[in-house]
Amino acid sequence: MLETCKENPYLMAIRNGLTLTLPIVIAGIFAVLLNTFPLAAYQNYMLALFGPQWQLFGEYLYKGTIGVLSVIMALSIGHGLSESYNANNPLDKLPSALFSFVIFSCLMITIEPIAGGTALELRWLGVHGLLLGILVAVFSCYLFCFFLRFSWLRVSIFSSNNSGSISQALTAMFPVVITLGIFAGCKMALYVYGVVNPNLGLYNWLYSLFAPLGEQTLVATNLYGIARHALWFIGQHGSNILEPIMQEFYVSAMSLNTKLVNTAIPDPRAYKQFFQLLYDHSSPYAIATKPFFDCFTSIGGAGSTFGLLVACLLQHNDNNARKIAKISLLPSIFNINEILLFGLPLILNPVFFVPFMLVPVLTTTTAYLAIAWGIVPPTTHDVAWNVPIFLNGYLSTGSIRGAVLQLMNIVLAGVVYMPFVRLDNELRERSLRRNFHDLVKAAEEDSSAAEPGLIYRPGRVGNLAVSLANDLQHALRKGQLFMEYQPQVNSDNGKVYGVESLMRWLHPEIGRVPPAVFIAIAEDTGFINKLGDFALEESMRQASVWRQAGIVDIIMSVNVSAIQLGNVGFPAKVRSLLKRYGLPADSLKLEVTESVALTLHGTQHTVLNELYCAGIPLAIDDFGMGQSSIAYLKKYPISSLKVDAVLSRDVLTSSCSCEIITSIADLCENLHVHLVAEAVEEEQQLQKLRSLGCSNIQGYFYSKPLPPQECFIFMQQCHKAFGPRCVKRQ
Ligand code: C2E
Ligand code: CA
Ligand code: CA
Repeated sequence: MLETCKENPYLMAIRNGLTLTLPIVIAGIFAVLLNTFPLAAYQNYMLALFGPQWQLFGEYLYKGTIGVLSVIMALSIGHGLSESYNANNPLDKLPSALFSFVIFSCLMITIEPIAGGTALELRWLGVHGLLLGILVAVFSCYLFCFFLRFSWLRVSIFSSNNSGSISQALTAMFPVVITLGIFAGCKMALYVYGVVNPNLGLYNWLYSLFAPLGEQTLVATNLYGIARHALWFIGQHGSNILEPIMQEFYVSAMSLNTKLVNTAIPDPRAYKQFFQLLYDHSSPYAIATKPFFDCFTSIGGAGSTFGLLVACLLQHNDNNARKIAKISLLPSIFNINEILLFGLPLILNPVFFVPFMLVPVLTTTTAYLAIAWGIVPPTTHDVAWNVPIFLNGYLSTGSIRGAVLQLMNIVLAGVVYMPFVRLDNELRERSLRRNFHDLVKAAEEDSSAAEPGLIYRPGRVGNLAVSLANDLQHALRKGQLFMEYQPQVNSDNGKVYGVESLMRWLHPEIGRVPPAVFIAIAEDTGFINKLGDFALEESMRQASVWRQAGIVDIIMSVNVSAIQLGNVGFPAKVRSLLKRYGLPADSLKLEVTESVALTLHGTQHTVLNELYCAGIPLAIDDFGMGQSSIAYLKKYPISSLKVDAVLSRDVLTSSCSCEIITSIADLCENLHVHLVAEAVEEEQQLQKLRSLGCSNIQGYFYSKPLPPQECFIFMQQCHKAFGPRCVKRQ
């Protein structure tokens, strides 16, 4: 159920939209902290240093970020929805910028008729207009896609010489006009019915719903809290909407408490015996005041999220969630939790709905009862909302007990949030596994076509590929990448004549990522050059270690990507590595896949020829499938061919594969090219390949790719045995 909820494209787009705005929110929070840091010495210092205008910097930053959050959010939700539309309708391929028309719908909602014209009310572009911004983005996208479905509403032209944007614009013309027209019509209808400003209308309606809640009883205090958090949960600034209630009931209650304490009237509850308090806890001091909510029920921000933050740091295994919690720690101490609200996220996240609503009820109740029963003094000193946790509890009550009560409430919140953090963790793990499975499938299916690259795929697969691309940038530095070596055996005499070096990536969360995935991602991002350099250097270093240990006649095959061959400096790099590790040129072999070899261009030809001149053997990998062309056997100085695994797997069942292998073997014999068969797992398969003329074997039958030490032992055993067949790995 929760997962279905999470899969809903609209809910997903809203949540992704919220998450995408995180950097902007963080900049805005930084501005708030900069301007309102609750330390008089700091405020005075800034004033002395920059003059009376010192807060302008923060003001600009705030107004340009959180001040226009609704518009930014509408845009990013529009973008998310366009992506999911494109994923489901590959023929349409709507440019996501087209969806920025949702902004116009939003702005239309925010236009205010004034005397002599119209004005854009900036207030509604910020957090105050968030709910309407989200609704407008979702509905305008929905309506747009709805109208797009009618073929008679699409103007289509065919043109061979435009970039496609004209035909996309014309296709979208009527759906856009109709959608915007509907919004203009709704706005006009509201105006006629007296709702001049829809945002204000929404605010007034919400206020009228919640106004009866503001009172001093435990039930009313809790209902106020529930209302505030319900609004926050749907992305609305609960505290701002209910501000009039706060002012009317709780700010005035605070003034009363301040007056009482100034006239030295003690709180009678503090002097009563506990059993007396059970039936009489009357007092002139109010319990529910503004600092009461700030200090005891919203510790760390709405939802008492400081407890959640602690629970995340203790229990969440997901790296992203932990990172969000860590970044959020400092602002949370000052009761600013937008990073958690938007980043985890909490807003519209069904996983956290229950604790987000329940925790404030529990913390309100414990704090209320603690004060009502005289255990903690009432709040009698006004304290700003962003005074740090514990200090605000102490200052507002004038007692250390206030801070202790806060600590208890944090523990309580943490305990309640804990199981939901675990649930979130589990759901994230499950969806990571599923997305990863799809990504691997996509990488394996498209290894030949490779269009578009994995990181450009829409939806979940593309998102995961982008995350992995980011992780890959750090993987090398963090030592997560390493090489394994798969022996290549001459089945005539059982001798290991070479090894192929294969790169491995041990991702901290996913575990082993197949090279088919990360090599493709590295090629998409250009990071393959760094990976390729690492593979070359590490393989040569290993070869020199083995040489020193007595294994001297082994050829080290290293895979190279076409992108590496496009660097003019590549041959020089290889030569210098050979020199550094004291290896002869013919102890190295560079493998290039066949599909790549077919598409090589100018620089790559030059590079290949230079490598050949330097005496470095070249191999064509995965030969025999795709658009196999023997023409380039003449064109390039090739020393080896590796039969495509698809062919060698089929030899026992497909006579066609056998025919192809036989002709490749004949060709190789005539051209004096070394032939290797890959993916050999069975004895029968091995015998069949030998009978077809291919006796150089690489495959699980002899050995899987091995860590260096194990490979060394394998080679030593083979050298010792040196019988008709090499030792088979158990
Ligand atoms: P490849 O070059 O064709 O490598 C052979 C693949 O076949 C390896 O997969 C190997 O583990 C697998 N294999 C070998 N024998 C058997 C067998 O008997 N049965 C089965 N089922 N599989 C067998 P791996 O390690 O997953 O590598 C996949 C591809 O990733 C490689 O295909 C290569 O194209 C690329 N790759 C790996 N390391 C590097 C690297 O360092 N640089 C570049 N550019 N590409 C690399
Ligand atoms: Ca290879
Ligand atoms: Ca291969």
